[in-house]
Amino acid sequence: MFDIIIIGGGIAGISAAARLSSNSSVLLLERESALGYHASGRSAASCIRDYGSEITRDLNEHSFEYLRTENNGVLSDRGLMVLAKKDQRDAFVTSSDSLGLTEISLSEAKIQVPIINNKIVKYASYRKDVYDLDTARLIQNFEKEANLNNAQIKNNSVVVRIEYLNSMWRVLTDNGEYHSTILVNAAGAWVDHISNMAGIEKIGFLPMRRSMARIPLPSGFDVANWAFFSGPMENWYAKPDAGQLIVSPAEEDLVEPHDAWAEDLILAEGISRYQSSLQHLLIK
Ligand SMILES: Cc1cc2nc3c(=O)[nH]c(=O)nc-3n(C[C@H](O)[C@H](O)[C@H](O)COP(=O)(O)OP(=O)(O)OC[C@H]3O[C@@H](n4cnc5c(N)ncnc54)[C@H](O)[C@@H]3O)c2cc1C
Repeated sequence: MFDIIIIGGGIAGISAAARLSSNSSVLLLERESALGYHASGRSAASCIRDYGSEITRDLNEHSFEYLRTENNGVLSDRGLMVLAKKDQRDAFVTSSDSLGLTEISLSEAKIQVPIINNKIVKYASYRKDVYDLDTARLIQNFEKEANLNNAQIKNNSVVVRIEYLNSMWRVLTDNGEYHSTILVNAAGAWVDHISNMAGIEKIGFLPMRRSMARIPLPSGFDVANWAFFSGPMENWYAKPDAGQLIVSPAEEDLVEPHDAWAEDLILAEGISRYQSSLQHLLIK
């Protein structure tokens, strides 16, 4: 019997487990063999404090100091830049304003990303206070905190049935049965599946797929300190990762929740979109 059962071991579930276990008995149930297996382990890992919905921005604001300082911090400097062609001025201004970027000269932009082709790129804007998040370390920090508070974390536990009887949750997995007074639904893309199982109203969560490709760069460039950069329509973005560039066509395709992988056709479409919009912006 636990005070709280948390379903889902992504960043939402493990951070809740770490904090709630300081004064409650907590059990976290995760379907996969490791925490952070799904979205939390596959993100572009960028931290922009004032990006997203009002709730997200509030959470960012309240988390920022923790992310920056606790356990030596999990943030590192990255910066964010928007690049645009001559005929994209309106979209460039809108996008730069909404992301809080300031217009800079092309020579300043080339200091951030030296392979910008200034025969094609006519506008650039930039802000410095955008960071990379070390998501693996963030998850490990919360896992450590949860373990120190004696929370139980059970991987390889698929929640298959939920009942609410006599003010008590009964949660069945494929290999066990657990009880608690409070149930936390942190199942990410599966959040409405869990709500359905628990017989509570769905929130209407819309799971969407977003792909990424890793591309090599012309030799002789050290990408480590390049900014995160994107087009003005937010239909592609790129950032350095382990000596290469990761590029996303930033698609938001509605899908059933699943173990996402890059499908050949979708990746090919994505790379073609990237090539038509980005390749000309950069010197090959
Ligand atoms: C390509 C991509 C790029 C992104 N880039 C960024 C970015 O730059 N910056 C940013 O802030 N965010 C980014 N995000 C978003 C971010 O990754 C997610 O918002 C975050 O990871 C969601 O965490 P979560 O814990 O809610 O979900 P998840 O990490 O998906 O965790 C949910 C967990 O619930 C488990 N679960 C589901 N059903 C069951 C069940 N029946 N029984 C047991 N366990 C179950 C799943 O196995 C999963 O591990 C990106 C996402 C993607 C996909």
